[in-house]
Amino acid sequence: MQPLANYAAQDVNSKGRKIKEDSPAYRDEFQRDRDRVIHSAAFRRLEYKTQVFVNHEGDLYRNRLTHSIEVAQIARSVARALNLNEDLSESIALAHDLGHTPFGHAGQGALNECMLDYGGFEHNLQSLRVVDELEERYAEFLGLNLTFESREGILKHCSTKNAKKLGNIGKRFLKKTSPSLEAQLTNIADEIAYNSHDVDDGLRSGLINLKQIQEIELVATQYQNVLDTYPKLDERRTIHELVRRLINAQVVDLIENSKAILEEAKPTAIEDIRASKKSLVAFSDKMQEHNLELKRFLRNNLYTHYRVVRMTSKAERVIRELFAEFFEHPELLPDKISDKAITAMQEQDAIVCARHVADYIAGMTDRYAIAEHKRLFDPSETT
Ligand code: MG
Repeated sequence: MQPLANYAAQDVNSKGRKIKEDSPAYRDEFQRDRDRVIHSAAFRRLEYKTQVFVNHEGDLYRNRLTHSIEVAQIARSVARALNLNEDLSESIALAHDLGHTPFGHAGQGALNECMLDYGGFEHNLQSLRVVDELEERYAEFLGLNLTFESREGILKHCSTKNAKKLGNIGKRFLKKTSPSLEAQLTNIADEIAYNSHDVDDGLRSGLINLKQIQEIELVATQYQNVLDTYPKLDERRTIHELVRRLINAQVVDLIENSKAILEEAKPTAIEDIRASKKSLVAFSDKMQEHNLELKRFLRNNLYTHYRVVRMTSKAERVIRELFAEFFEHPELLPDKISDKAITAMQEQDAIVCARHVADYIAGMTDRYAIAEHKRLFDPSETT
């Protein structure tokens, strides 16, 4: 394997973990981060959380676990091609969605609305809360005690208000500087993954069709390429051949354009990357346009399809009703959280109480949220 670029993240130069630990014997620090993410409860629950399609709509669609694995695959390819740290990119990719609520974006929007008077809800910040505090597995610390570099990558976005409360990890949002290249590329790998797999799931579910999607230039080019090469291919294979070309075109563009940017910027150490106000890993302008066009198409045709919207509105109602009921009656929460929430209420601290409720709801899978809603509101359900 090629040596890492001198501006790559290296575990020997890591800014370390909040609680100091001995180095592992046969792994480096970022491999250990990745392994801790894989063994976390929040990671396992990703299997039953969805982005666009709600879990019980079928086993054929992506869930957040398969999405995170696809992001890790793309991020590792890009990291390796740019001589950056694959293990760190993988750790960030596998952890990046740990804080997502059930029911994808609908769930998060609804929970944020419920939390407006109590500090709001941001899924990136919640992913950080999961690895910093909410996982209760290790004897010596709360959370997973990950390295600064993994935590920096997990916190992709953050409001100024919240950044001020976060110390070191929040500083870059105030100074408007950049995280490591591994964090930057994993963020773009996330976009490549979801745009491409939403095309795939959208086509296979029949909510969008091959004819309609050719209004997008990038898709039309790749589709024509499949047709020219395999004129008699059945639809299922045609869709896969199209989607893999879409991913490949974006990945190749990202690698080549980033190489050119880095050659020109000539960073010599990770500090140069972190001091930079602009991204040094990016699509070409042309691919950026294609990417926006694809996103716009998905927004107008898939995410706002009436079947998706119906499910979305049901999901929002479930989250709103769960929040309202638990917040008003914290004694309905399971024992451990209930104790914390009730104590907060007795101390007249509604903000802390609301945060416990939000943590509980955000940790739910789609099916658990539906079951919990039934248990609370359907008198014929046993609890
Ligand atoms: Mg994602």
